[in-house]
Amino acid sequence: MSQGPYKPLDAQVIPRFAGIRTFMRAPHVTDLTGVDVAVYGIPFDTATSYRTGPRFGPEAIRSASALLRPYNPALAVNLVDALSIVDYGDVPVSPGDTERTYAQVEEALAPIVEAGVFPAALGGDHAITLAELRALAKKHGPLALVQLDSHGDVWESYFGQRYFHGTTFKRALEEDLLDPTASVQAGMRGSLYGPDDIQIAKDFGFTVLTTDELRELGPQRYGELVREKTGDRPVFVSFDIDFLDPAFAPGTGTPEAGGFSTAEALAFVRNLKGIRLEGCDVVEVSPPYDNAGAVTALAAATVMYELLSLRACLPA
Ligand code: MN
Ligand code: MN
Repeated sequence: MSQGPYKPLDAQVIPRFAGIRTFMRAPHVTDLTGVDVAVYGIPFDTATSYRTGPRFGPEAIRSASALLRPYNPALAVNLVDALSIVDYGDVPVSPGDTERTYAQVEEALAPIVEAGVFPAALGGDHAITLAELRALAKKHGPLALVQLDSHGDVWESYFGQRYFHGTTFKRALEEDLLDPTASVQAGMRGSLYGPDDIQIAKDFGFTVLTTDELRELGPQRYGELVREKTGDRPVFVSFDIDFLDPAFAPGTGTPEAGGFSTAEALAFVRNLKGIRLEGCDVVEVSPPYDNAGAVTALAAATVMYELLSLRACLPA
């Protein structure tokens, strides 16, 4: 039970469709005293290679998250009893300038990480994860990466740019932010530029599971494998919403057919229970391509809810 003061609005007093939209209707707070979890937005999408739009991701995920209730029956945990959760707002970004944005995000994250508050980011395109890893590695050293994504994001460069949403984890390795042998990428699928594309991350030392391999493994054995690989190392979970099939998450920049349902994705995340989670993000939600009253944003909000539940399940 958290002693922190922050609780969401009472849905029996202010109905869920009412009120100013913050993540899970948590109070918007930037003073870190008494805070266990800071959910924050990184509204940046300059580093996308196909469709833009994730700059509007944070506000859409917040809006969809108004539906979430405190008790998670699948993991038997009451999130808001276990954790004092706030919505820290959006951190500063510079549209058009990825490297400047990295510096801004790193600077904004420093006091959160320093205070021992768990940082949970709403993206934003996948380039932003590099800045999050830089801030967290300063405190924890190299982290174990658990990435759920239909792409590896391990290219050397893209359109001549080294900092891009498809190069994030290559840069993170070069900067010693990750422990590759403790890192697991899962969900890779779709057409490639060549037969060796999947091999790039394996050569780094990552464990790589394609969508077919992950489907074959199933949620429980996936959880076992990740716990075995990550051990007691600090873990960062990065969830790219294009892990889902475009039928379940049309609102994203680089959709890949043949992916997972929302239910399957939630099961994979829940089965990570027990990992030493020290930070997370949900990225690549592009509201301009979403439909049916924000089905992608709701999936993203629920994935974040499950990630926070993993943190809530850890011993204090
Ligand atoms: Mn990605
Ligand atoms: Mn992706």
